[in-house]
Amino acid sequence: MSLRTILTEPNKILRKVSEPVKKVGEEERRLMDDMLETMYAAPGIGLAAIQIGIPKRIIVLDISKGENKKEPMYFVNPVIKNKNSKKATYEEGCLSVPDQFAEIERPNSCEVEYLDYEGNKKLLKASGLLATCIQHEMDHLEGILFIDYLSKLKKSMIIKKLSKNKSNRIVV
Ligand code: ZN
Repeated sequence: MSLRTILTEPNKILRKVSEPVKKVGEEERRLMDDMLETMYAAPGIGLAAIQIGIPKRIIVLDISKGENKKEPMYFVNPVIKNKNSKKATYEEGCLSVPDQFAEIERPNSCEVEYLDYEGNKKLLKASGLLATCIQHEMDHLEGILFIDYLSKLKKSMIIKKLSKNKSNRIVV
């Protein structure tokens, strides 16, 4: 496994629409392993492949709060089948939008069809935090970031702040 670099906004690659995966093989599993390691190291609870610059429809998640027990979840080619009309609001952040948080409203439960780590077809009924995380990560596959749901003014303020941080960044 190896750590990958997480891309941050503003970056055009994050706006790409990711391509479906043809089959889940060794290459895809290696990528999922790297994504998981990168996510844990960040630390974060979800990561989409496009966040490390790979436009494939792959997501990893671990919303377990156990410090010793890890509960990784892998989603390849996820498709949302059903969304609840009831909404839930969480204060969301994103590894690609560092240090920025905003309350985002999304359906509070959903059903998602996907291929797992082994390439088996699965259907998951998700609610609460898991439903929000899946929807946040699936937005990445469409090139959408959570800041896109904010007002134009708020969004441009965040992007301006992030751009400024980038120009001040040095590596020595
Ligand atoms: Zn994100």
